[in-house]
Amino acid sequence: MLATSLREYLRDPLLATLMTEIKAAGPIRSSLLDITHKCNLRCDGCYYFSQEMDQYRRQDDESAFDRFIEMEKARDVNMLTIVGGEPALEIARLRKLAKHFHLTVVTNGSLPIPMEGLESIRIAVSFWGDETRDTMMRGNGNQNIFEKALSHFKNDPRVGFYYTTVPGFTDRIEKATAKMVENGNFVAFNFYGDIDQKGGAYSHLLGYEEVNRIIFGLAQQYSSRVISSPHLNRVIDQRHLFGQSWGYDVCPSLTYDHPANAQRMREGKAYQTKFRAYYADLTSTRRCCVGEARDCNTCTDLWATYAWILGSMKSHLSSLEDFSSWLFTTYLFYASSGFIDWHHAAKEHLPAIYRRFASFPTFANLVDVGWSEDTALLRTTKAKTNYPVFPLMSIAEEEMGARYGH
Ligand code: SF4
Ligand code: SF4
Repeated sequence: MLATSLREYLRDPLLATLMTEIKAAGPIRSSLLDITHKCNLRCDGCYYFSQEMDQYRRQDDESAFDRFIEMEKARDVNMLTIVGGEPALEIARLRKLAKHFHLTVVTNGSLPIPMEGLESIRIAVSFWGDETRDTMMRGNGNQNIFEKALSHFKNDPRVGFYYTTVPGFTDRIEKATAKMVENGNFVAFNFYGDIDQKGGAYSHLLGYEEVNRIIFGLAQQYSSRVISSPHLNRVIDQRHLFGQSWGYDVCPSLTYDHPANAQRMREGKAYQTKFRAYYADLTSTRRCCVGEARDCNTCTDLWATYAWILGSMKSHLSSLEDFSSWLFTTYLFYASSGFIDWHHAAKEHLPAIYRRFASFPTFANLVDVGWSEDTALLRTTKAKTNYPVFPLMSIAEEEMGARYGH
């Protein structure tokens, strides 16, 4: 029955094309590394330093670093997210990693990252709130990190800004996004988690509906430069997916063999089969991508929520709209992580993806746009079935080789 629905949905040419590209790109087997414990900034609300993760010092032995690469290759990992600390302090080691893995390097943007030997990486440049707040929270009030990043990465084809939105500060999102686009970069969005309990305008309890409306407007306006799924953004805001609540029990971004997760593993809950979050000593791991004891109730992590959605394909099969939302979100993830070239995605598919999203009744509150011309195929049942969260292989594995979980 589910396989029949899938076949029927894939008669839609856009969906069939995207699925073909995802299958050709193959499964993503992801892991994460703090490449150094050092950073040239001290941002307010930094999860890394607020949880004292820098107590795990950089492994200085180069042969140990080489062994780490071999170990991850032997585990069949093919994607590494590089965080820290500041990865731009470790250019030689980034070059070594880039020879073996798809790399997404998360940087504060204050330092340049040369092209040589790093041509094919993805660079995710962080930006928080708006220019004033970014300078306050990241530059100690006296460094405009954003201007530095714009200058370092002008027209750099590897770069996407990762714009951390704050629920109470929405008035300047458009202006800052326009600067990033005019700089010749991609833009993605994530959501501030109020770890330091600043409250007020910083609190996620205010909700992200207004932010999401603005983001989706920008996705349509700059449809070949913005990479952002309204489905993903809504799940982060509402913290629900088909009757399941966001949190530890459903989050797949856990170090699968960390002792803190042993009970969860015994319970057979979904996880990413290769994922480990390594500290800078290259051997110690933490419970999940963002910490040992990070409160899941305030977690708004973009990548972890992506993984939850990607692994929940079956839950999205009860209507064509749900399946399309799943497939578009999956495609955007593949484009963001370098498994599909994002310049190709931008030229060929992003505008059509955002037109489709705009046509879905589910997202009507985000847009003023009416039904677009290419949506006739999408008017099917709106009936929802609450599937249980299931082991993540099955159809996703069979149909497209996506290995998020087991
Ligand atoms: S740049 Fe990143 S690692 Fe460094 S202090 Fe800021 S948030 Fe933390
Ligand atoms: S803090 Fe976030 S990423 Fe970590 S286990 Fe909880 S929900 Fe997942």
